[in-house]
Amino acid sequence: MKRIATLSLAIASTMAAFPASAEEVSGWRIFVADHATGAVQALDLDAPENRWRFDVEGPAKLYPTPSGRGVIAVQSDNDRVDFFKSGIDRHSHGDHADMTITEPEAIEGGLEGPRPFHVVNHDGVTSINFDRGGYAALIEEAALLKGEFDGETFRQAHAHHGFAVPMGDRIVSSVASDEAVEEGELPPRVGLQVFEQDGTAVGELQTCTNLHGEAFSGSYLLAGCDEGAAFVTQTSDGFELGMLPYPTDFPDGKTGTLAGARAMQAFLGDYGDNALVVIDPAEEPHFKRIDFDFRHVDFVLDPAHPQAGYVLTEDGTLHRLDLLDGAVDDSAKVTEPYSMDGHWRDPRPRLAIAGEDIVLTDPREGLLRVVDAESLEETATIDVEGTPYNLIAIGGSGIDH
Ligand code: ZN
Ligand code: ZN
Repeated sequence: MKRIATLSLAIASTMAAFPASAEEVSGWRIFVADHATGAVQALDLDAPENRWRFDVEGPAKLYPTPSGRGVIAVQSDNDRVDFFKSGIDRHSHGDHADMTITEPEAIEGGLEGPRPFHVVNHDGVTSINFDRGGYAALIEEAALLKGEFDGETFRQAHAHHGFAVPMGDRIVSSVASDEAVEEGELPPRVGLQVFEQDGTAVGELQTCTNLHGEAFSGSYLLAGCDEGAAFVTQTSDGFELGMLPYPTDFPDGKTGTLAGARAMQAFLGDYGDNALVVIDPAEEPHFKRIDFDFRHVDFVLDPAHPQAGYVLTEDGTLHRLDLLDGAVDDSAKVTEPYSMDGHWRDPRPRLAIAGEDIVLTDPREGLLRVVDAESLEETATIDVEGTPYNLIAIGGSGIDH
Protein backbone atom coordinates (compact mmCIF):
# COMPACT_ATOMS: atom_id res chain seq x y z
CA MET A 1 0.00 0.00 0.00
CA LYS A 2 1.29 3.38 -0.90
CA ARG A 3 0.32 6.40 1.11
CA ILE A 4 -1.13 9.43 -0.54
CA ALA A 5 0.48 12.73 0.17
CA THR A 6 -1.91 15.62 0.56
CA LEU A 7 -0.58 19.05 -0.03
CA SER A 8 -2.85 21.93 0.76
CA LEU A 9 -1.63 25.04 -0.98
CA ALA A 10 -4.19 27.46 0.29
CA ILE A 11 -5.64 26.44 3.60
CA ALA A 12 -6.08 29.97 4.84
CA SER A 13 -8.17 31.19 1.94
CA THR A 14 -10.22 28.00 1.96
CA MET A 15 -11.07 28.32 5.61
CA ALA A 16 -12.46 31.80 4.93
CA ALA A 17 -15.05 30.23 2.67
CA PHE A 18 -16.39 28.04 5.47
CA PRO A 19 -19.71 29.45 6.60
CA ALA A 20 -20.00 30.28 10.29
CA SER A 21 -23.77 29.95 10.54
CA ALA A 22 -26.76 29.06 8.37
CA GLU A 23 -26.23 30.53 4.95
CA GLU A 24 -26.47 29.80 1.30
CA VAL A 25 -23.46 28.10 -0.12
CA SER A 26 -22.67 27.23 -3.68
CA GLY A 27 -19.66 26.25 -5.65
CA TRP A 28 -18.01 23.72 -7.87
CA ARG A 29 -14.85 21.80 -7.19
CA ILE A 30 -12.87 20.44 -10.09
CA PHE A 31 -10.76 17.29 -9.82
CA VAL A 32 -8.29 16.87 -12.65
CA ALA A 33 -5.89 14.01 -13.26
CA ASP A 34 -2.54 14.36 -14.96
CA HIS A 35 -2.05 12.45 -18.18
CA ALA A 36 1.47 11.27 -17.41
CA THR A 37 1.83 11.12 -13.65
CA GLY A 38 -0.30 10.11 -10.70
CA ALA A 39 -1.08 13.70 -9.76
CA VAL A 40 -4.74 14.44 -9.01
CA GLN A 41 -5.35 18.11 -8.41
CA ALA A 42 -8.45 19.65 -6.90
CA LEU A 43 -9.41 23.30 -7.13
CA ASP A 44 -12.42 25.49 -6.50
CA LEU A 45 -13.81 26.94 -9.70
CA ASP A 46 -14.74 30.31 -8.13
CA ALA A 47 -11.46 30.52 -6.21
CA PRO A 48 -8.87 28.54 -8.16
CA GLU A 49 -6.17 29.59 -5.71
CA ASN A 50 -7.77 27.01 -3.37
CA ARG A 51 -5.81 23.98 -4.52
CA TRP A 52 -4.96 20.56 -3.29
CA ARG A 53 -2.79 17.88 -4.77
CA PHE A 54 -2.95 14.14 -4.17
CA ASP A 55 -0.40 11.75 -5.59
CA VAL A 56 -1.49 8.28 -6.61
CA GLU A 57 0.53 5.65 -8.41
CA GLY A 58 -0.38 6.39 -12.02
CA PRO A 59 -2.56 8.37 -14.43
CA ALA A 60 -6.17 8.12 -13.31
CA LYS A 61 -9.62 8.24 -14.75
CA LEU A 62 -11.88 10.02 -12.27
CA TYR A 63 -15.47 9.30 -11.33
CA PRO A 64 -17.73 10.78 -8.65
CA THR A 65 -19.45 8.46 -6.19
CA PRO A 66 -23.26 8.40 -6.50
CA SER A 67 -23.83 11.54 -4.37
CA GLY A 68 -20.58 13.27 -5.28
CA ARG A 69 -19.22 13.05 -1.74
CA GLY A 70 -16.46 10.80 -2.98
CA VAL A 71 -14.04 10.73 -5.90
CA ILE A 72 -12.76 7.50 -7.44
CA ALA A 73 -9.36 7.49 -9.16
CA VAL A 74 -9.00 4.39 -11.35
CA GLN A 75 -5.42 3.64 -12.36
CA SER A 76 -5.91 0.83 -14.87
CA ASP A 77 -2.23 0.43 -15.74
CA ASN A 78 -1.24 0.34 -12.07
CA ASP A 79 -3.86 -2.19 -10.89
CA ARG A 80 -5.03 0.27 -8.31
CA VAL A 81 -8.01 2.43 -7.32
CA ASP A 82 -7.74 5.31 -4.83
CA PHE A 83 -10.55 7.24 -3.21
CA PHE A 84 -10.97 10.80 -1.95
CA LYS A 85 -13.59 12.76 -0.10
CA SER A 86 -14.60 15.58 -2.41
CA GLY A 87 -15.40 17.91 0.50
CA ILE A 88 -18.72 18.66 -1.19
CA ASP A 89 -21.60 17.22 0.78
CA ARG A 90 -24.91 18.03 -0.83
CA HIS A 91 -28.23 16.31 -0.36
CA SER A 92 -31.76 17.57 -0.80
CA HIS A 93 -34.26 17.25 1.98
CA GLY A 94 -37.77 18.34 1.16
CA ASP A 95 -37.95 21.84 -0.25
CA HIS A 96 -34.24 22.64 -0.22
CA ALA A 97 -30.81 21.15 -0.41
CA ASP A 98 -28.26 21.10 2.39
CA MET A 99 -24.71 21.67 1.34
CA THR A 100 -21.42 21.96 3.13
CA ILE A 101 -18.02 22.60 1.64
CA THR A 102 -14.90 21.38 3.38
CA GLU A 103 -11.45 20.48 2.16
CA PRO A 104 -11.03 17.41 0.00
CA GLU A 105 -9.04 14.61 1.57
CA ALA A 106 -7.60 11.24 0.69
CA ILE A 107 -9.40 8.20 2.08
CA GLU A 108 -6.99 5.75 3.69
CA GLY A 109 -6.39 2.51 1.89
CA GLY A 110 -7.61 1.80 -1.60
CA LEU A 111 -8.28 -1.18 -3.78
CA GLU A 112 -5.75 -3.27 -5.60
CA GLY A 113 -6.66 -5.77 -8.29
CA PRO A 114 -5.95 -6.82 -11.85
CA ARG A 115 -6.75 -4.02 -14.31
CA PRO A 116 -9.61 -2.02 -12.84
CA PHE A 117 -11.48 -0.25 -15.61
CA HIS A 118 -15.14 0.66 -16.01
CA VAL A 119 -16.95 2.22 -13.06
CA VAL A 120 -20.74 2.32 -12.91
CA ASN A 121 -22.80 3.96 -10.17
CA HIS A 122 -26.34 2.74 -9.58
CA ASP A 123 -28.71 2.71 -6.60
CA GLY A 124 -26.07 4.17 -4.31
CA VAL A 125 -23.56 1.46 -5.19
CA THR A 126 -20.29 1.93 -7.05
CA SER A 127 -19.23 -0.99 -9.22
CA ILE A 128 -15.62 -1.27 -10.34
CA ASN A 129 -14.83 -3.98 -12.90
CA PHE A 130 -11.45 -5.69 -12.56
CA ASP A 131 -11.00 -6.78 -16.17
CA ARG A 132 -8.17 -9.26 -15.61
CA GLY A 133 -9.52 -10.47 -12.29
CA GLY A 134 -12.90 -11.60 -13.62
CA TYR A 135 -14.88 -9.78 -10.96
CA ALA A 136 -16.50 -6.51 -10.03
CA ALA A 137 -16.19 -4.86 -6.62
CA LEU A 138 -19.55 -3.49 -5.47
CA ILE A 139 -19.16 -0.81 -2.81
CA GLU A 140 -21.90 1.10 -0.98
CA GLU A 141 -21.13 4.81 -0.92
CA ALA A 142 -21.37 5.08 2.87
CA ALA A 143 -18.82 2.28 3.27
CA LEU A 144 -16.54 3.73 0.62
CA LEU A 145 -16.45 7.10 2.42
CA LYS A 146 -15.43 5.29 5.61
CA GLY A 147 -12.60 3.56 3.79
CA GLU A 148 -14.31 0.17 3.79
CA PHE A 149 -13.74 -1.21 0.31
CA ASP A 150 -14.11 -4.93 0.93
CA GLY A 151 -17.82 -5.10 0.12
CA GLU A 152 -19.53 -7.54 -2.19
CA THR A 153 -17.69 -9.04 -5.12
CA PHE A 154 -19.48 -10.35 -8.19
CA ARG A 155 -17.55 -13.05 -10.07
CA GLN A 156 -17.87 -13.39 -13.83
CA ALA A 157 -17.41 -16.69 -15.68
CA HIS A 158 -14.48 -15.27 -17.69
CA ALA A 159 -12.29 -12.26 -17.00
CA HIS A 160 -13.11 -9.57 -19.59
CA HIS A 161 -13.34 -5.84 -20.26
CA GLY A 162 -16.88 -5.39 -19.02
CA PHE A 163 -19.05 -4.44 -16.08
CA ALA A 164 -21.41 -5.87 -13.48
CA VAL A 165 -23.87 -3.69 -11.61
CA PRO A 166 -26.74 -4.20 -9.16
CA MET A 167 -30.23 -3.65 -10.55
CA GLY A 168 -33.03 -4.34 -8.11
CA ASP A 169 -32.00 -7.42 -6.11
CA ARG A 170 -30.04 -8.90 -9.03
CA ILE A 171 -26.80 -8.19 -10.86
CA VAL A 172 -26.66 -7.30 -14.54
CA SER A 173 -23.32 -8.24 -16.07
CA SER A 174 -21.65 -8.27 -19.43
CA VAL A 175 -20.79 -11.82 -20.54
CA ALA A 176 -17.66 -12.90 -22.41
CA SER A 177 -17.31 -15.68 -24.96
CA ASP A 178 -16.37 -19.19 -23.80
CA GLU A 179 -13.78 -19.39 -26.59
CA ALA A 180 -10.13 -20.03 -25.73
CA VAL A 181 -7.89 -16.97 -26.07
CA GLU A 182 -4.14 -16.44 -26.20
CA GLU A 183 -2.26 -15.89 -22.98
CA GLY A 184 -2.61 -12.24 -22.03
CA GLU A 185 -5.67 -11.72 -24.23
CA LEU A 186 -9.22 -11.31 -22.96
CA PRO A 187 -12.21 -12.98 -24.64
CA PRO A 188 -14.67 -10.84 -26.62
CA ARG A 189 -17.94 -9.74 -25.05
CA VAL A 190 -20.99 -11.49 -26.44
CA GLY A 191 -23.92 -10.23 -24.39
CA LEU A 192 -25.70 -9.16 -21.24
CA GLN A 193 -27.36 -11.32 -18.62
CA VAL A 194 -29.11 -11.05 -15.27
CA PHE A 195 -27.60 -13.05 -12.39
CA GLU A 196 -28.14 -13.83 -8.74
CA GLN A 197 -25.45 -12.44 -6.44
CA ASP A 198 -23.75 -15.85 -6.44
CA GLY A 199 -23.42 -15.88 -10.23
CA THR A 200 -26.40 -18.13 -11.02
CA ALA A 201 -27.96 -16.94 -14.30
CA VAL A 202 -31.54 -15.66 -14.21
CA GLY A 203 -33.01 -15.93 -17.71
CA GLU A 204 -31.37 -16.00 -21.10
CA LEU A 205 -28.36 -14.19 -22.44
CA GLN A 206 -29.20 -11.08 -24.45
CA THR A 207 -26.78 -11.08 -27.39
CA CYS A 208 -24.71 -7.89 -27.63
CA THR A 209 -21.70 -8.52 -29.86
CA ASN A 210 -18.59 -6.60 -28.79
CA LEU A 211 -20.53 -4.91 -26.00
CA HIS A 212 -18.96 -1.62 -24.93
CA GLY A 213 -20.33 1.42 -23.15
CA GLU A 214 -23.06 1.08 -20.53
CA ALA A 215 -25.27 3.66 -18.86
CA PHE A 216 -28.47 4.01 -16.89
CA SER A 217 -31.35 6.39 -17.50
CA GLY A 218 -34.83 6.13 -16.04
CA SER A 219 -35.68 2.44 -15.71
CA TYR A 220 -33.24 1.36 -18.44
CA LEU A 221 -29.69 0.10 -18.62
CA LEU A 222 -28.32 0.34 -22.16
CA ALA A 223 -25.13 -1.03 -23.69
CA GLY A 224 -23.64 -0.51 -27.15
CA CYS A 225 -23.29 -3.54 -29.46
CA ASP A 226 -22.51 -4.31 -33.10
CA GLU A 227 -26.24 -4.91 -33.69
CA GLY A 228 -27.68 -1.93 -31.85
CA ALA A 229 -28.19 -0.95 -28.23
CA ALA A 230 -29.04 -3.82 -25.88
CA PHE A 231 -31.33 -2.95 -22.99
CA VAL A 232 -32.34 -4.25 -19.59
CA THR A 233 -35.35 -2.79 -17.84
CA GLN A 234 -37.19 -3.79 -14.69
CA THR A 235 -40.86 -4.65 -15.04
CA SER A 236 -43.45 -5.62 -12.42
CA ASP A 237 -42.63 -9.29 -13.00
CA GLY A 238 -38.87 -9.23 -13.35
CA PHE A 239 -36.52 -8.07 -16.04
CA GLU A 240 -37.04 -7.46 -19.73
CA LEU A 241 -34.01 -7.67 -22.00
CA GLY A 242 -33.92 -6.77 -25.66
CA MET A 243 -32.20 -5.04 -28.54
CA LEU A 244 -32.85 -1.71 -30.18
CA PRO A 245 -31.35 -2.32 -33.64
CA TYR A 246 -29.69 0.55 -35.49
CA PRO A 247 -32.03 1.95 -38.13
CA THR A 248 -31.48 0.27 -41.51
CA ASP A 249 -30.86 3.61 -43.22
CA PHE A 250 -27.91 4.43 -40.92
CA PRO A 251 -24.41 4.32 -42.43
CA ASP A 252 -22.03 1.66 -41.04
CA GLY A 253 -21.21 2.36 -37.43
CA LYS A 254 -21.86 1.35 -33.87
CA THR A 255 -22.24 2.74 -30.40
CA GLY A 256 -19.41 2.12 -27.94
CA THR A 257 -19.84 4.91 -25.39
CA LEU A 258 -23.08 5.99 -23.73
CA ALA A 259 -24.18 8.62 -21.24
CA GLY A 260 -27.55 8.41 -19.50
CA ALA A 261 -29.65 11.48 -18.71
CA ARG A 262 -30.74 11.85 -15.09
CA ALA A 263 -33.88 13.98 -15.33
CA MET A 264 -35.44 12.33 -18.37
CA GLN A 265 -35.22 8.90 -19.95
CA ALA A 266 -32.71 9.39 -22.77
CA PHE A 267 -29.18 8.42 -23.70
CA LEU A 268 -26.47 10.14 -25.70
CA GLY A 269 -24.02 7.85 -27.45
CA ASP A 270 -21.41 7.84 -30.15
CA TYR A 271 -22.11 6.28 -33.53
CA GLY A 272 -18.92 5.66 -35.43
CA ASP A 273 -16.35 8.47 -35.33
CA ASN A 274 -18.37 11.27 -36.88
CA ALA A 275 -21.84 10.98 -35.41
CA LEU A 276 -23.67 10.90 -32.12
CA VAL A 277 -27.04 9.33 -31.42
CA VAL A 278 -29.80 10.31 -29.02
CA ILE A 279 -31.51 7.11 -27.89
CA ASP A 280 -35.00 6.94 -26.44
CA PRO A 281 -35.31 3.34 -25.28
CA ALA A 282 -39.09 3.45 -24.84
CA GLU A 283 -40.47 5.55 -27.70
CA GLU A 284 -40.02 5.38 -31.47
CA PRO A 285 -37.94 6.48 -33.20
CA HIS A 286 -35.40 5.01 -30.79
CA PHE A 287 -32.41 6.62 -32.56
CA LYS A 288 -31.82 10.18 -33.72
CA ARG A 289 -28.47 10.64 -35.41
CA ILE A 290 -26.47 13.88 -35.44
CA ASP A 291 -23.63 14.03 -37.99
CA PHE A 292 -20.50 16.14 -37.61
CA ASP A 293 -17.81 17.20 -40.09
CA PHE A 294 -15.07 16.15 -37.68
CA ARG A 295 -14.57 13.25 -35.30
CA HIS A 296 -15.70 13.71 -31.71
CA VAL A 297 -13.17 13.99 -28.88
CA ASP A 298 -15.51 13.90 -25.88
CA PHE A 299 -19.18 14.44 -25.06
CA VAL A 300 -21.21 14.99 -21.89
CA LEU A 301 -24.79 15.49 -20.77
CA ASP A 302 -25.82 18.50 -18.70
CA PRO A 303 -27.39 17.27 -15.45
CA ALA A 304 -29.16 20.56 -14.66
CA HIS A 305 -30.46 21.12 -18.20
CA PRO A 306 -31.59 17.65 -19.18
CA GLN A 307 -32.21 18.37 -22.82
CA ALA A 308 -28.68 19.73 -23.37
CA GLY A 309 -25.51 17.85 -24.22
CA TYR A 310 -22.11 19.07 -25.35
CA VAL A 311 -19.58 17.58 -27.72
CA LEU A 312 -16.09 18.71 -28.62
CA THR A 313 -14.92 17.79 -32.12
CA GLU A 314 -11.27 17.42 -33.12
CA ASP A 315 -11.21 20.77 -34.94
CA GLY A 316 -11.55 22.39 -31.47
CA THR A 317 -15.25 23.26 -31.81
CA LEU A 318 -17.66 22.82 -28.92
CA HIS A 319 -21.24 22.08 -29.97
CA ARG A 320 -24.33 22.32 -27.80
CA LEU A 321 -26.91 19.67 -28.64
CA ASP A 322 -30.64 19.75 -28.10
CA LEU A 323 -31.50 16.16 -27.26
CA LEU A 324 -35.22 16.59 -27.87
CA ASP A 325 -34.62 17.89 -31.41
CA GLY A 326 -31.65 15.60 -31.99
CA ALA A 327 -29.76 18.57 -33.43
CA VAL A 328 -26.90 20.98 -32.78
CA ASP A 329 -28.20 24.34 -31.56
CA ASP A 330 -24.95 26.27 -31.24
CA SER A 331 -21.22 25.83 -31.85
CA ALA A 332 -18.08 27.78 -30.99
CA LYS A 333 -14.35 27.27 -31.35
CA VAL A 334 -12.77 26.69 -27.93
CA THR A 335 -9.35 25.09 -28.49
CA GLU A 336 -6.79 24.54 -31.21
CA PRO A 337 -7.41 21.31 -33.15
CA TYR A 338 -6.71 17.98 -31.38
CA SER A 339 -6.44 15.23 -33.98
CA MET A 340 -8.06 11.88 -33.23
CA ASP A 341 -5.26 10.18 -35.19
CA GLY A 342 -2.51 8.70 -33.07
CA HIS A 343 -2.84 6.69 -29.88
CA TRP A 344 -6.29 6.47 -28.32
CA ARG A 345 -4.85 7.68 -25.05
CA ASP A 346 -2.89 10.66 -26.38
CA PRO A 347 -3.84 13.65 -24.28
CA ARG A 348 -6.93 15.36 -25.65
CA PRO A 349 -9.47 17.62 -23.98
CA ARG A 350 -12.14 16.21 -21.70
CA LEU A 351 -15.38 17.95 -20.74
CA ALA A 352 -17.21 18.44 -17.45
CA ILE A 353 -20.31 20.42 -16.52
CA ALA A 354 -20.17 22.70 -13.48
CA GLY A 355 -23.57 24.36 -13.15
CA GLU A 356 -23.79 27.01 -15.88
CA ASP A 357 -20.21 26.45 -17.00
CA ILE A 358 -18.52 23.88 -19.17
CA VAL A 359 -15.01 23.15 -17.95
CA LEU A 360 -12.60 21.46 -20.31
CA THR A 361 -9.01 20.41 -20.05
CA ASP A 362 -6.62 21.71 -22.70
CA PRO A 363 -3.70 19.35 -22.07
CA ARG A 364 -1.30 20.84 -24.61
CA GLU A 365 -1.69 24.28 -23.03
CA GLY A 366 -1.70 23.04 -19.42
CA LEU A 367 -5.03 24.77 -18.85
CA LEU A 368 -8.59 24.36 -17.79
CA ARG A 369 -10.90 26.43 -19.96
CA VAL A 370 -14.16 27.68 -18.51
CA VAL A 371 -16.88 28.25 -21.12
CA ASP A 372 -20.29 29.74 -20.44
CA ALA A 373 -22.85 27.08 -21.35
CA GLU A 374 -25.33 29.62 -22.70
CA SER A 375 -23.08 31.82 -24.87
CA LEU A 376 -20.32 29.21 -25.45
CA GLU A 377 -17.85 32.03 -24.77
CA GLU A 378 -14.72 31.41 -22.74
CA THR A 379 -14.99 33.22 -19.42
CA ALA A 380 -11.75 32.11 -17.73
CA THR A 381 -8.68 29.94 -18.04
CA ILE A 382 -7.03 28.26 -15.07
CA ASP A 383 -3.40 27.14 -15.16
CA VAL A 384 -2.84 23.58 -14.02
CA GLU A 385 0.60 22.09 -13.58
CA GLY A 386 1.51 19.09 -15.71
CA THR A 387 -0.76 17.75 -18.45
CA PRO A 388 -4.38 18.08 -17.32
CA TYR A 389 -6.51 15.33 -18.83
CA ASN A 390 -9.45 13.53 -17.19
CA LEU A 391 -11.61 15.72 -14.99
CA ILE A 392 -14.85 15.78 -13.04
CA ALA A 393 -16.82 18.63 -11.47
CA ILE A 394 -18.72 18.24 -8.19
CA GLY A 395 -20.86 20.95 -6.66
CA GLY A 396 -24.13 22.81 -6.71
CA SER A 397 -25.86 25.03 -4.20
CA GLY A 398 -27.69 24.60 -0.93
CA ILE A 399 -28.04 25.81 2.63
CA ASP A 400 -25.52 25.12 5.34
CA HIS A 401 -27.43 24.98 8.63
ZN1 ZN B 1 -31.79 21.57 5.55
ZN1 ZN C 1 -13.90 0.30 -22.00
